Amino acid sequence: MSRRSTAADAATFLPGAMLGVLGSGQLGRMFAMAAARLGYRVHVFAPEPDAPAADVAFRQTVAPFDDADAVAQFARSVDAVTFEFENIPIAAAETAARYAPVRPAGTVLHATQDRLREKRFLRDAGIPCTPFAEGTTAEQLQAAVAEVGLPAVLKTAAWGYDGKGQRLVRTSAEAEAARAALGGVPAIVEGFVDFDCELSMIAARSAGGEEAYFGPVRNDHAHHILDVSAYPCQELASHAEEARQIAQAVVRGLDVVGLVCVEFFLTRDGRLLVNEIAPRPHNSGHLTIDACACSQFEQQVRAVCGLPLGAFELTAPAAAMANLLGDLWLIDGEPRWARVLADPRLRLHLYGKTDARPGRKMGHLTALADTADAARRLVRESRRMLVGD
Ligand code: AMP
Repeated sequence: MSRRSTAADAATFLPGAMLGVLGSGQLGRMFAMAAARLGYRVHVFAPEPDAPAADVAFRQTVAPFDDADAVAQFARSVDAVTFEFENIPIAAAETAARYAPVRPAGTVLHATQDRLREKRFLRDAGIPCTPFAEGTTAEQLQAAVAEVGLPAVLKTAAWGYDGKGQRLVRTSAEAEAARAALGGVPAIVEGFVDFDCELSMIAARSAGGEEAYFGPVRNDHAHHILDVSAYPCQELASHAEEARQIAQAVVRGLDVVGLVCVEFFLTRDGRLLVNEIAPRPHNSGHLTIDACACSQFEQQVRAVCGLPLGAFELTAPAAAMANLLGDLWLIDGEPRWARVLADPRLRLHLYGKTDARPGRKMGHLTALADTADAARRLVRESRRMLVGD
């Protein structure tokens, strides 16, 4: 696939245009809501009916991503295409690109949907990242373990998210057993990072090359799934400029038009290492909806459409977001929404999913407060109040 230069792809789409979204989960839903506010219409394309974005979109196509005719028809019906999910077959992005600009371009999807390609891009660009090596075959695995050391994390190169397809391994034998259990699919071995905390930067880059950055957001995980994000955190202030520069190297290096989240580990000795790049809005940026002049979703709309970017400026001193996973529903039924709805410091977001399953992201709660610590405490306490008598 040839890389399209930003300048050559600088067409602008004004309100009233139809935007296509590949994928129709909660990220597509919040994108469609931001787009609608600015007067755009959204056409979502996804294999699943009853998906969160379809509820709020102008139009939906339900078809598999590998149905080239359906993708072509979809792309012909829209002015520009973006995505909310990076595990889209490259062929679908290529087909769509014949009829409408795809932003970010398929080259960005290609680089980021495979952990090996992503880490190689980072290494070649001189961007600090987790030590890694390929571990697909038994021979590669042995060499990889020798190179990155133990403990290590063995991950599938493709289709991984929220800790799926990854195992912590402490010995070579454990590593080989984990590799064999993956059935020979392409795999990456990463050194286990003994991190102090995890953080992320959100970066928007428009078709005209304008850039906006938000972060670093502090991210606390539970069971490999993001649990609580907070901003602005005092303890990260001294890393903010370095994180911004790395995010800038990523968006420029990949020639992104759209929105990207760069996730980092902050090591105990104070180094920032990139863990992952998501070429779309990210869970850790949800707090921008309630705490910023322009949310990550509106920035994506603006960047994709070639409008001037907005300001990620805070409209409250601090904010924290807590995910509402399906587990909450499984404790004793529907959470007690009334307990949070009356509090003006809290904002409830639900994604319209009817089937609560453990680990499934059903919604999120944002708390606004004077400091990030206070917001974090408030959002955790408020989430706890959603269940029980
Ligand atoms: P990922 O899907 O790669 O973002 O991994 C999910 C979570 O697992 C991360 O947010 C970390 O909490 C943890 N994790 C992943 N890779 C590593 C690593 N190399 N070292 C330590 N923890 C990791």
